[in-house]
Amino acid sequence: MTQAPVRTDTDILAIAREQVLDRGVGLDKQQTVQVLTLPEDRLEELLALAHEVRMKWCGPEVEVEGIISLKTGGCPEDCHFCSQSGLFQSPVRAAWLDIPSLVEAAKQTAKTGATEFCIVAAVRGPDERLMAQVAAGVEAIRNEVDIQVACSLGMLTQDQVDQLAAMGVHRYNHNLETAKSHFPNVVTTHSWEERWDTLRMVREAGMEVCCGGILGMGETVEQRAEFASQLAELEPDEVPLNFLNPRPGTPFGDLEVLPAAEALKAVAAFRLALPRTMLRFAGGREITLGDLGAKQGILGGINAVIVGNYLTTLGRPAESDLDLLGELKMPIKALNETL
Ligand code: SF4
Repeated sequence: MTQAPVRTDTDILAIAREQVLDRGVGLDKQQTVQVLTLPEDRLEELLALAHEVRMKWCGPEVEVEGIISLKTGGCPEDCHFCSQSGLFQSPVRAAWLDIPSLVEAAKQTAKTGATEFCIVAAVRGPDERLMAQVAAGVEAIRNEVDIQVACSLGMLTQDQVDQLAAMGVHRYNHNLETAKSHFPNVVTTHSWEERWDTLRMVREAGMEVCCGGILGMGETVEQRAEFASQLAELEPDEVPLNFLNPRPGTPFGDLEVLPAAEALKAVAAFRLALPRTMLRFAGGREITLGDLGAKQGILGGINAVIVGNYLTTLGRPAESDLDLLGELKMPIKALNETL
């Protein structure tokens, strides 16, 4: 009888190479902590491994998405990072977009090669008026533009989940934002579990699940790893990774920006914890990583980007991301692959 070989590797990157790259099994929480605490002189090696994992388990395509705010500001919730909360003294004022502007934005987004257009509203959850607006908007976009429609409208009831699925909404975004153990330090007006319930209903209704969060909100390295493993348990189709961009007037307005090396390490660690998930660069990366960081991230595990403006802060212009993908010879995922 042959005995199983005894593992002698103790180096986390050697372990990750065999476990994640070769076998497609994501890192667990303890292993993710080890990656997040690697010394900086191993960053390049880590990013290279994360890139290999992404290429092997996701392929070279990059998904491009545009987002638009249907209802901005005036939200009753108290998410401490958010300039759209009506509870803080931040400069974002409540505003609604009309349907023709929504359709026009979807057309402009489709022109960039994007396959996904996400309609976002700053609310706890949708009321009847918002659901009616979304229904009209989704129908108008589906009639006029070749693009998948996603929505991000906060917490949902089962009935609202069913309505969105019936409208043909392809993907639903609802972020858990941070580790369960850190969530009460970030939001007090609703719970992590309430968010989880919405995600479960979305999945059961057959929509794709998009769920990520924000790094750099005062969480410990262990909590960052906890968050990655909680996302792995959820198995979302997409994880948008944001880095805190401290907004004036919000409770997190004075937090330090995450150092670039830590942010890149986190990108790679999330890729190693979630080898098959679409990992998207979302907000805040400009101030954390600067221009160079976009390239390092896309060569370090990221395989999806947002074009154009973020919701309340300016992102990089669409062209610079699209040029970068061309330069790196990474094809933009085509619409027929997503249908
Ligand atoms: S629920 Fe959304 S829009 Fe409202 S405060 Fe929280 S993050 Fe901001």
